[in-house]
Amino acid sequence: MSDRIVVAGVGVDTRHWIGGERVASVTTFTDTSPIDGRALGEIARGGPAEASAAVAAAKAAFPAWAATSRTERARLLHAIADGVEKRIEELAVVETNDNGALLRSHRRGVMPRVAHNFRFFADWLLKLDHEDFDTFPSGGSAAGRGHTNHVSWDPAGPSVLITPWNAPLMLATWKVAPALAAGNTVVLKPAEWSPLTASLLADIAAEAGLPAGVLNVVQGYGSEIGDALTSHPDVRRISFTGSVPTARHIAASAAANLTPLSLELGGKSPLLVFADADLDLAVDLAVEQYDNAGQVCLAATRILVEESIADEFTRRFIDKAIQLTQGDPRDEATDLGPNIHPRQLEKIDGFVQRALAAGARAVIGGQRTDVGGQYYAPTLLTDVAQDSEIVQEEVFGPVLTLQTFADEDEAVRLANDTRFGLAATLATGDPERAERVTARLVAGTIWVNCFFVRDLQAPFGGSRLSGVGREGGTWSFDFYCDVKNTVTAPNGWNNHG
Ligand code: ADP
Repeated sequence: MSDRIVVAGVGVDTRHWIGGERVASVTTFTDTSPIDGRALGEIARGGPAEASAAVAAAKAAFPAWAATSRTERARLLHAIADGVEKRIEELAVVETNDNGALLRSHRRGVMPRVAHNFRFFADWLLKLDHEDFDTFPSGGSAAGRGHTNHVSWDPAGPSVLITPWNAPLMLATWKVAPALAAGNTVVLKPAEWSPLTASLLADIAAEAGLPAGVLNVVQGYGSEIGDALTSHPDVRRISFTGSVPTARHIAASAAANLTPLSLELGGKSPLLVFADADLDLAVDLAVEQYDNAGQVCLAATRILVEESIADEFTRRFIDKAIQLTQGDPRDEATDLGPNIHPRQLEKIDGFVQRALAAGARAVIGGQRTDVGGQYYAPTLLTDVAQDSEIVQEEVFGPVLTLQTFADEDEAVRLANDTRFGLAATLATGDPERAERVTARLVAGTIWVNCFFVRDLQAPFGGSRLSGVGREGGTWSFDFYCDVKNTVTAPNGWNNHG
């Protein structure tokens, strides 16, 4: 096996990154490109031995990193951001070849945002521990006695971060940056369908001067390496983004040590379109749900439209959706690239064919696209029952359903009637309605007349099967730290006198 592959002119080390060194594995797996199915190279296939080595490296590096001043940690995170910014083109090209998402959005949106992830948490770190924020006198029964509370955030320890393939570097760094900022050391395990940019991140971090062992990257297949990571007694935090079955598996594995978990899982989010909405905006929001070929956990895949405007909405939706260009994600003109893997394509088509067999109607799409490779036609299904699989289960492909509602009550009932609670989007021209409806929806994030706007300061996560916990801003530090409150007596150290 070669230790280095070249993807679109960019060299990528295919080994693990453990304790500041490249480490090979005895076995490998083949990484393929969703664009044309070609093999990109052989990647180190880690198991329990590599998991233990990486956790040991993270544990060894932890005391010094935790003791590193906040200013120095922030400086290093900014240096990583500088490195990302210098390599935006390389990162974008490698990511597109690896996971098939659009090159133009990697270039202009995703990779700059990766750098921003580091800058944001570096700056946020310096806001912690400010007196006006976390020091306060005791109230209640202790009122008047003058005790002072002081809240501090202690780094928790080695953190295992397990990330998915739909937005590999974006989602990895959205965990890596706060974990490092908090003073934790990291073992990052990217998805086996998109392992490459995590390896480039290791290079960038090393070049930025991050000490050995502070960030470790291991490669491998799901539970083959995952179980040894998630059940490890020296791991103090696990943050996972992925599917519900895997989350259950990880939670069971973490139960051995009661390791705190942050789980960002799937969704079946609604887009509620009320008759008072700006219809052009509502149609734009609906068509936007095909972004990343539908492989977005936040996607509002259930379109719920008020009956009185359903025909007009559907007409305009079709007009717009059929203009989408599907094809090679490296082309500027492409709107929809391939789906990640033949297995994922099978899964998507299985959902659609079962829905059609159960009586659904494909207004558009409903099958693979004949443009070569792993492409699925943007699909809109109507005549779907609320309790049907296609309405209840996450497809993770360019497949939307459309249902109608008679009034606000029915809209809310349908919107909330799945086991998920990740996000919801509303299109309405009535601010009071927006307030009423958002108060009744179960969702971690609600967008009103907009979609996918995510400020890193805001809490992010899901309710019900969509996840456990919230990350973002203060919430990230709460998760990655052990929060400590110190109560000090009023008169210093001689209170008994
Ligand atoms: P999907 O089914 O969409 O591919 P998964 O939730 O299985 O998503 O995968 C997300 C991430 O979880 C990947 O990095 C994958 O390797 C990892 N993973 C899968 N199974 C396990 C496991 N048992 N323990 C730890 N990580 C796992």
